[in-house]
Amino acid sequence: LSLHSASFLSSGSKLSNCPPDIGAEVAFAGRSNAGKSSAINTLTQQKKLARTSKTPGRTQLINFFGLNKPDSKLVDLPGYGYAKVATQVKEDWQRHLDDYLRNRQALQGLVLVMDIRTPLTEFDQMMLNWCDLSSLPVLVLLTKADKFKYGAAKNIQLKVKKELSDIKCVKDIVLFSSLKRTGVPEASKQIIEWLSV
Ligand code: GDP
Repeated sequence: LSLHSASFLSSGSKLSNCPPDIGAEVAFAGRSNAGKSSAINTLTQQKKLARTSKTPGRTQLINFFGLNKPDSKLVDLPGYGYAKVATQVKEDWQRHLDDYLRNRQALQGLVLVMDIRTPLTEFDQMMLNWCDLSSLPVLVLLTKADKFKYGAAKNIQLKVKKELSDIKCVKDIVLFSSLKRTGVPEASKQIIEWLSV
């Protein structure tokens, strides 16, 4: 099983038009512009698998990527969090995300992408709450770690670790950079482990 084998499978706006709920999948979530698409492209070593966009909040679809093991998938959940998006649309996203996280049997783990400069946004807290309620394990990526010197990035990682120490679903908090490929081995290892059930 290799993350590099990822290829586009399908996309849908709600759970009812997702691929069958069988096998194992790992989902990626993050506030719009956190660096989620870049992280997916870096982990799969594919330049354009997930669409990075300069118009944040545009992707409102759940995208599925297939891997070289039957019914193993990566899932790109819609970004969220821009004021430009109407309240109604936000509420719809929340309902779909909530539905997906609660009811998807194949879901083994969630990768929560946070911009290291603005970690633990309201969106992140909401996701962590949901995961905790459903006992879904979470890997936190503090991405764009290249924006700081190593020591400063480590300090932020420590602070986030402390703040999340009470949340049992959080498995690890990894410094990540799509630019420098920091944290790729750690993140890949966890994702592959989740998919190997
Ligand atoms: P998404 O909306 O969460 O999918 O975010 P994108 O992956 O589209 O990234 C948002 C912006 O952050 C883009 O301008 C990226 O070039 C930039 N970005 C993403 N990852 C990194 C990173 O690791 N380092 C740096 N310096 N910039 C990044």
